[in-house]
Amino acid sequence: MAAAAALRRQGRQVILIEASGRIGGRAHTTIPALLEAPFDHGAAWLHAAERNPLAAMARQFGIRTLDSGAERVHRTRLPGRFTVAAEDAAYAQAEAAFHERAAAALAGPDVSLAEAVGPIAALPWMPSVVNWEAPVIAAADASALSLRDWHTNLLEGSNWEVEGGLGAFIARRLAGPVQLNTVATAIDWGGPGVRVETSAGTIYADACIVTVSTGVLAAGKIRFSPALPVATQEAIDGLPMGLLSKVALRAAGADRLDVPDSCGIDQCVPAIDAPAMTIVAWPHGQDHAICFAGGSHAAELDRRGELEGFARDQLRGLFGRRADGAFRPGAVVTAWAADPWTLGAYAYARPGCAGARGVLGTPLAGGRLIFAGEATRTDGLAGTVGGAFLAGEEAATACVAE
Ligand SMILES: Cc1cc2nc3c(=O)[nH]c(=O)nc-3n(C[C@H](O)[C@H](O)[C@H](O)COP(=O)(O)OP(=O)(O)OC[C@H]3O[C@@H](n4cnc5c(N)ncnc54)[C@H](O)[C@@H]3O)c2cc1C
Repeated sequence: MAAAAALRRQGRQVILIEASGRIGGRAHTTIPALLEAPFDHGAAWLHAAERNPLAAMARQFGIRTLDSGAERVHRTRLPGRFTVAAEDAAYAQAEAAFHERAAAALAGPDVSLAEAVGPIAALPWMPSVVNWEAPVIAAADASALSLRDWHTNLLEGSNWEVEGGLGAFIARRLAGPVQLNTVATAIDWGGPGVRVETSAGTIYADACIVTVSTGVLAAGKIRFSPALPVATQEAIDGLPMGLLSKVALRAAGADRLDVPDSCGIDQCVPAIDAPAMTIVAWPHGQDHAICFAGGSHAAELDRRGELEGFARDQLRGLFGRRADGAFRPGAVVTAWAADPWTLGAYAYARPGCAGARGVLGTPLAGGRLIFAGEATRTDGLAGTVGGAFLAGEEAATACVAE
């Protein structure tokens, strides 16, 4: 959408096609009947708001934004109680040791994040730190993540929420002419222009910008002719899709489990590879909680249809039987792995593939074929809507330049 808007501003003729029946892709807000409140199935935060172009846009349009860091309370929960100061200090110490160790390991080869922090893995609270940094934030297990790429995309800075939902904001602000329900199946980029076969006919153009996820690319859903260069194909293989799943539950009555509004709840994860959820309870005073799980455990729970049950088990483990009565039956459960147009949440780099994002984003055939989208960012905004927006704008410039 950003690429199309930028090209149109340049006076170019653009055909924007979208396989599904809606715009926004992984930025998607609905108001589920269970919650009666806006719910972002995908992106919810404008990360690194200080340098996120969408944060500036929200300000410019006078949209109300909320700084999560300033608003949100953080608590760590053990079964039956919140942590005490000494436990919080030990957690903070583990966090500092983790980042110090990871930063020191950057001097060596691009191993996995798990390998980099392996020597301190036995420190108390380390499984909680790893669970937050890898499955929850990077959507993949620490053993699967490139240390260097993970470090590049630490997303430092403020995290903003947008009133009404981020997906709704993006759909409102970036919407332009688009052909929905139009699936690209093949792209001939052999020249002089490009020919795109779609479910609604053939499109001939000077150039083509492809912003589908690396999940869609790796699944071979779009046939390229000639075949993509080996380096591009290797970059796609080096950037698989991780999974982050959300389970939203609505309060049954007045019981808020003694948890304050907008509370981020972390827990003491027993082992590095133990499945665990983090929770955002009663965001901005609303009467629902959102449980987050990522990485291979989330993928397995998702495959088995057990995400809601796992969320309820986690809440029971932390708050006891009281949690059973605190929430209504039913849940809103996201399903990005099964979404045929994304096949996952966002891309991560395998160990040794820290350069893959740059390779994938390098225009081909002098700008006739350009891959854009979140996976191509090398500026630390990979995996974000802000990154996807910038990638689109830059792809438009690369097109125009030719
Ligand atoms: C659960 C979850 C939580 C997230 N949280 C955050 C967050 O808090 N903050 C943040 O910044 N980011 C977050 N993200 C990541 C963010 O949503 C993505 O990085 C970003 O939206 C990707 O944008 P994109 O344009 O690259 O790809 P997409 O949004 O996937 O757009 C690609 C479009 O291509 C379409 N398409 C696919 N195949 C075809 C085809 N063959 N023909 C035509 N069209 C096709 C798709 O339907 C889609 O609309 C989250 C993602 C998930 C899943």
